[in-house]
Amino acid sequence: MHQQTRDLRAIYDALPDLLKMAWERKLSPGDNVYDIQDALREEHREKGIPFRWSMPYRCLYQCDKCGHTNTAIDHEPENPTVRDESSPLRLVKLSELEVHRVRKHGFNFPKACREFLRHAAKSIKELEVAT
Ligand SMILES: [Zn+2]
Repeated sequence: MHQQTRDLRAIYDALPDLLKMAWERKLSPGDNVYDIQDALREEHREKGIPFRWSMPYRCLYQCDKCGHTNTAIDHEPENPTVRDESSPLRLVKLSELEVHRVRKHGFNFPKACREFLRHAAKSIKELEVAT
């Protein structure tokens, strides 16, 4: 895998995973993880912290390269420090299959996602300096 792809993957993995956080926060069986995840999204937007929001589907994806199959998920990495909500630097969409291709087969992230991640890395560095 190219160094650049590895670096971008590290940035992607460093984005807080809101769905995982929501499962950790779920306290009672009546709690809806997706509502918790949406509340976490609001918190991160208010604080100006880049994050990953994810929505799994009741269907599977299958990788045409290795046959691997798993739950289809839409990921939305978002950087709330970008004010223009229509900008691809603010939000990109990425499927679990695309993430699988990057992780298992060394594919590049899609172009818009690469640009998003490079820009988000700067926002994360600025946050670290500020705190
Ligand atoms: Zn595969």
